[in-house]
Amino acid sequence: MYNIIGIYKRRIFAAVVIVIIAACFIVSFGFSGKAHADTEPVEYDGKVEHIFTHELVFDTAKAFSPNNSVRDCFDKDHLTAKEFKALLGELYKNGYVLVSLDRVIDGEPIAVPRGKKPLVMSFDDMTYDTFNRGCIDKIILSDGKICDYTKNAEPQVSRERENVTILESFIEEHPDFSFGGARATLCVNGYNGILGYRCTPDCKVSEQKQAEEIEECKKVVAALKELGYTFASHTYYHKYFNSCTASMIEKDCAMWQKYIAPIVGETRVLCYPAGEHKAKSAKNDIFKKYDFDIFLCVGNFAGTDYERAATDAKYMYRLPFDGTALRLYQKSYAHLADTRAIYDDTRFRPFSYKGGYYK
Ligand SMILES: [Zn+2]
Repeated sequence: MYNIIGIYKRRIFAAVVIVIIAACFIVSFGFSGKAHADTEPVEYDGKVEHIFTHELVFDTAKAFSPNNSVRDCFDKDHLTAKEFKALLGELYKNGYVLVSLDRVIDGEPIAVPRGKKPLVMSFDDMTYDTFNRGCIDKIILSDGKICDYTKNAEPQVSRERENVTILESFIEEHPDFSFGGARATLCVNGYNGILGYRCTPDCKVSEQKQAEEIEECKKVVAALKELGYTFASHTYYHKYFNSCTASMIEKDCAMWQKYIAPIVGETRVLCYPAGEHKAKSAKNDIFKKYDFDIFLCVGNFAGTDYERAATDAKYMYRLPFDGTALRLYQKSYAHLADTRAIYDDTRFRPFSYKGGYYK
C-alpha cells in the first residue's frame, strides 16, 4: 500500500513537471511569437507624408539682422538649425520613421514597423551662396564623416548647423528613426554649384578651381549616397516654370545633363523651383524627354485630376517646413509637429506674425 502511494506520488510529480515545462514552452513561444510580430514591418495604407526644408540658418543674429538684405527670405523660406533639430524630435515623438523616396516611387506597398508612420524628407537648394549671412559654407567630409563647414564661426567644422549633419547626429541617437537605412533626397541646382562646391561654369571660378571643386564634391556626394541619401534635379538655373520658355527648359536640362548629372548621377526626380509647374504642357514634356518622370511639387494637395490620372509620370506634393509654415500651419501640421513649440524665438518676427507672405 505504502509503495503504491509512493508510485502515485512520483507519477503525479512527473505529470506536474511535464505540465510546467509545457506551460513554459507555450508561454515563451507565445511571447516570442508576439514579439516577432511586433517588430515585423507591416503594410501601411495611409498617406505617406513628404516634408522638405531649405538650407538652415544657424547664426540667427546674422541671418535676421536688419543689415542682412536677404533676412526676409531667410525668415519666410528657411528653418533655423534649432528648429530643425526640434522638428526631428517632434516627428520621432509622433511615431514617424524616415523612408526613402525611392521606395515610394517604386509604387510598392510601404511597410513600416507596427505603429509607425512613414515619412519622406527632402532638402532643396543647399547652394550656400549667401556668404557669411548665417548659413554654412559647404558640406564636407572630416575624418570620414559628413560635417558642415563655415569659416565664419567656431568651431568651423560641426555636425549641428545643417540639415544633413543634424539628421545624421539625430539618427546616431535614434537609429530607429531611419527605417531600412533611409535618408533624405537632396534637390540640388547647378547655377552656383552644389553643396557649396563651385563646380559649374556659372560659378565663375577658374577652370582649375572648377576641376578641383568637382573632385571634392564627388567625394562628398559618394559619402552621402553611401549613407542612403539620394539626389534630385531642382533644375540647373532654378528659374520658375511659368517664366521659362520651352527653349529655356531645353537649355536647363542640357546643362543639368552636362554638369550636374556626372557628379550626382542620373535621376528620374525633378523638383520644380517653388513648386511652380503645369503638368499638362509642352514645356513639361521637355522634362519628360530628358527622362524625368517623378515630379516634386509643393502644397498640401493630392494633385490635379490630370496629375493623378497620369501614367507616364508621378506628381508628388510636399509640405514645406519654414518660417511661413510654422506660423500659418500650426493646426494642419499638428500631426507632424507642434510648430509653436519648435518656433525659434530669436527670429525677428513673432510667431503671431501672419501677414505679408503673399506679396
Ligand atoms: Zn529652390
